[in-house]
Amino acid sequence: MTTQEILLMKCRFYSKEIWGKEYKGTLTFIENDPCLGYFGIFANWKKTIEIDVRVLKHKYMVDTVILHELCHWWCYINKLGWDDEDKDFLKECKKVGDKIVYTEYKRFVPTKKVRQIVNKFERSLRCQEVSWTQAVFVPDV
Ligand SMILES: [Zn+2]
Repeated sequence: MTTQEILLMKCRFYSKEIWGKEYKGTLTFIENDPCLGYFGIFANWKKTIEIDVRVLKHKYMVDTVILHELCHWWCYINKLGWDDEDKDFLKECKKVGDKIVYTEYKRFVPTKKVRQIVNKFERSLRCQEVSWTQAVFVPDV
């Protein structure tokens, strides 16, 4: 399995866990200017979540970014305010443990809720006997 496939599985798993509806979009990688300070984009016009390759090195950070982008996705498909500052969006962020509006890269700390959902995903993979450990943090871009 490629990193991209696993991250897409995460998108589907997390969206189902949190909202009971599966994410049907795609996932791609981007390489941003580090000075920009954002690590993902929900590109509604392309129906994709774009993940900055830098976050792949950090366990939990990639998950936090995915969850943040899924909050954008959820608000967007439900015609709620889906911008970073919108109340609706911030409300959805709280469901996944708040503070998933970004902090600085070097000082990143995952929330308890993010750790829980990641562990749940990893358990579900073990049940399916999917080998994922090598793939997860090696970007194949
Ligand atoms: Zn955002």
